[in-house]
Amino acid sequence: MEVPVPYLGSVNVWLLLGDPLTLIDAGPSNEDAFAALEQQLADHGVAVEDLELVLITHHHLDHSGLAARIKERSGAEIAAHRGTAQWGRSYHERAAQEHRFTLELIQAHGVPEYVVAGSWSFFDYIVRASTNFETDRALRDGDTIRAGDRTLRAVFRPGHSTTDTLFVDESSRDAFVGDHLLATITSGAELVPTELPGDERRRALLDYLSNLRKTGAMDLATCYSGHGDADRPRDLGGRRAPRHPRQPWIGDGAGRRPRSPLFPPERCRRARCHEPDAVTRCTR
Ligand SMILES: [Zn+2]
Repeated sequence: MEVPVPYLGSVNVWLLLGDPLTLIDAGPSNEDAFAALEQQLADHGVAVEDLELVLITHHHLDHSGLAARIKERSGAEIAAHRGTAQWGRSYHERAAQEHRFTLELIQAHGVPEYVVAGSWSFFDYIVRASTNFETDRALRDGDTIRAGDRTLRAVFRPGHSTTDTLFVDESSRDAFVGDHLLATITSGAELVPTELPGDERRRALLDYLSNLRKTGAMDLATCYSGHGDADRPRDLGGRRAPRHPRQPWIGDGAGRRPRSPLFPPERCRRARCHEPDAVTRCTR
């Protein structure tokens, strides 16, 4: 089922018929998403009240937002990796912490003020479309859980977020992978604050790539993604090292470094341009 999501278009929510009647991911917390979910469940002869289990692939609001409301209506259990469970207990505090971190990071990298200002509406949306949720079963890497007549193994694969978890059916070789693996686009790797003072900062992209290689080595038939079409992991090869289009700007071959990811070296240094079209002008 596809549930609408502002900014992204839609998120996939998977219904597993059987015992227990299970939803994998839940959509963002807003009326449009809930109505769309309710309608599509009805098309399968299921009411929200019938649901018995909600599995969450990672904490992002487009996957976890409606979990608490579904649980309230149906009495369904919520199961997720324990990192996702921690997010569920204090979603808005954590989102506020990430916003502060993001603001400091992008300002330190010389991102123009109009772009910095634009981040407020996105983080406001994150708060509006998310809710706290209480997780009944906090899973660890390798745990199994019964869902829709299947046994699913939780496989922890952080990188896109800090909590990405695959739910793998080892007998059918199906995997529900959230945003760890998307068929037509590269999953983002999220920069986040360190959890504890003194912790080394996470290398999200390196974590992501190393976990993607582990997934590529698994004997999986079909990966059911968080957005867009299902994916075939055998096609992973060409997409193991996502590259940002601005990657060539990271160094200019003469050892000179850009002063920020937004501005390539030399041209911007010369022009000192901070206008909104700086990036366009500097790539000429
Ligand atoms: Zn997503």
